[in-house]
Amino acid sequence: MGIPLFSLVRDCIQNGNWNLRAARSDRQLQLLSFITSLQPSPVSDSTMWLRQETNSKNFSSKEVWNAIRSKNPTVSWYSLVWHKVAIPKHAAATWLFMLNRNPTFDRMVAWGLDVETICLLCGSSSESQNHLFFDCPFSNRVWSALLLKLDILNAPTSWAQIISWLPAALPQRDAQLSLLLLWQASIYELWKERNRRLHQGLTLPHYKIFKRIVYLIKNKAMALKNVGSKHGEALTLLWF
Ligand SMILES: [Zn+2]
Repeated sequence: MGIPLFSLVRDCIQNGNWNLRAARSDRQLQLLSFITSLQPSPVSDSTMWLRQETNSKNFSSKEVWNAIRSKNPTVSWYSLVWHKVAIPKHAAATWLFMLNRNPTFDRMVAWGLDVETICLLCGSSSESQNHLFFDCPFSNRVWSALLLKLDILNAPTSWAQIISWLPAALPQRDAQLSLLLLWQASIYELWKERNRRLHQGLTLPHYKIFKRIVYLIKNKAMALKNVGSKHGEALTLLWF
């Protein structure tokens, strides 16, 4: 096009009109017809982010993500995982288990790997998502003790039953949020304990995992209260 490599747009404009060489090939002609369809602007250049319908001077990672991601219909269990006061790493771990994407031993065997399938938490049954949360006697002790904090007795222990029980388990909103926090923290901490045993050969007793989860939830309640969240006050009342 005869335009030096580091030219500015204004170098190609003279008296408000494009000043470009005549095209010498079909490709140049196409380019030239496109460029000349744009009206040179008299104002200074600035960065613009082109959104789907509007332009903005501000960059928004949310807008970019929404523009490039493929969208699927919202799943029915969405609010169990991505609820208002969720702890992000707990929600992410729970989400992966909802999709059954974590490498539990039953899945590794299904991939053709030669692994011992005995649950590392109880040592008595085969490990699967359903066994870990919370058919496993070890997990179940942690889960049941935590539920007692919310005065819940006889909660279901199988994965599928828990998923259908959770959405309307408790009538009071903040108790319900506490339950979701407990459920996700249990999944995260028990999976972490399983991995600790697998990769480091270290073992924590069930009561330490219980205490750790209670500590995490109390911290979350305090943090919410400190930032003035309306759930913070109610959760601290429930947990302290
Ligand atoms: Zn087990």
